[in-house]
Amino acid sequence: MERIVMKFGGTSVANPERIARAAQLVVREVNSGKQVAVIVSAMGKTTDELLSLAKEVNSAAGRRELDMLLATGEQVTASLLAMAISGEGVEAHSYTGWQAGVLTESVHGNARIEQVQADRVSAALTSGTVAVITGFQGADMHGELTTLGRGGSDTSAVAIAIALGASICDIYTDVEGVFTTDPRLIKQAQKLEEISYDEMLEIANLGAGVLHPRAVEFAKNHQMPLRVRPAHIEGEGTIIKEEIDLENNLVVRGIAFERDIVRITVMYNVPYNGSLANIFTALAEHHVNVDIIVQTIREDVQPSVSFSIKKEDFAEVINVLESNKEALGYSRADFEVGLAKVSIVGSGMVSNPGVAASLFETLRQVDIPIKMVSTSEIKVSVVIPEPEMEKAVAALHEQFGLDAVKGK
Ligand code: ADP
Ligand code: ASP
Ligand code: MG
Repeated sequence: MERIVMKFGGTSVANPERIARAAQLVVREVNSGKQVAVIVSAMGKTTDELLSLAKEVNSAAGRRELDMLLATGEQVTASLLAMAISGEGVEAHSYTGWQAGVLTESVHGNARIEQVQADRVSAALTSGTVAVITGFQGADMHGELTTLGRGGSDTSAVAIAIALGASICDIYTDVEGVFTTDPRLIKQAQKLEEISYDEMLEIANLGAGVLHPRAVEFAKNHQMPLRVRPAHIEGEGTIIKEEIDLENNLVVRGIAFERDIVRITVMYNVPYNGSLANIFTALAEHHVNVDIIVQTIREDVQPSVSFSIKKEDFAEVINVLESNKEALGYSRADFEVGLAKVSIVGSGMVSNPGVAASLFETLRQVDIPIKMVSTSEIKVSVVIPEPEMEKAVAALHEQFGLDAVKGK
């Protein structure tokens, strides 16, 4: 019998009416002869609310207790949805991540799933029961609860789909599918029929919140078909798979963006690579994620390195640099806040020279200064002033033909 996994995000289970709608979608799949496992997020903004509650009690609460607290959000949804499904006459049981056999590494707040021991859930499905499982959480080898990082329910869904041998993992959300860019920012954004795992992985990593990057990575590694589709209306959504037919032969298929970027520039005293290694080793030891790095060494100029980080890491970076000034061998650091990163992504770029040039030209025409650039085979990212971000995305969206994608 065919098995599927259906995942509902926070907005799609935000109130009793939406939970009822989700239950109907589940029951419809059951009635069409499928075994269904459902993964749920916490209702609406619950996770944010729990985090601010914790802050009120202790602004420096430890990660273990935060995980204990956050894990409750998904548990509320799972039991309510199981009740709603039962109310429709279909047997349903809810399970926590731990009960569903989701085993993670021993890291609080951002754990990776190591294994899913799905026997219990599998047996439930075989006996005709719908399993409703809390997303975003698991347990480590010591039985400690862990969470997977914000947006991590997508990853729970894919990992469980793989363990259950599901034919597809459907991610139900509050938009109609994956768009050429965030439809909440750019109204010309168009829904894509399909997108490849590689493109989706870049877009997710570059800031589009629509899918958790690790979910796409798991799906690609196990060739699990993934679909992003609307919960609130009927719609086939977007299929994410290995090979795709190029829609209108687009070179660029998506634009992602990220706000709150800070650029740090460090001038060294010592013109040798030791400083570079020291600085980035110290930052890594403090778990700072450094993104774009630009290093310039010229004979007549004091050597410097610039790198970009997220605003949330800013205080930590300053702290690391200041408290190790001598050891790191640098003389001065400058920083620039209020930046954003805009990235264009598309597999077609590999064989199309001139994509970066076209991006630079487009931004020149709209007078947007570029602070940093980084490229890979299938993406070009630029760091620009944040107030210009929306204008930049709109101009690039038009320039690369995304306003006119068919198939919405
Ligand atoms: P859920 O709670 O269902 O997990 P998320 O808020 O995590 O939903 O993800 C859906 C949101 O992702 C959309 O509301 C949309 O604003 C945002 N988003 C960003 N980039 C894109 C994109 N390229 N296509 C679709 N949605 C996007
Ligand atoms: N509830 C968690 C969050 O808000 C996980 C998720 O929704 O995927 O980040
Ligand atoms: Mg999400």
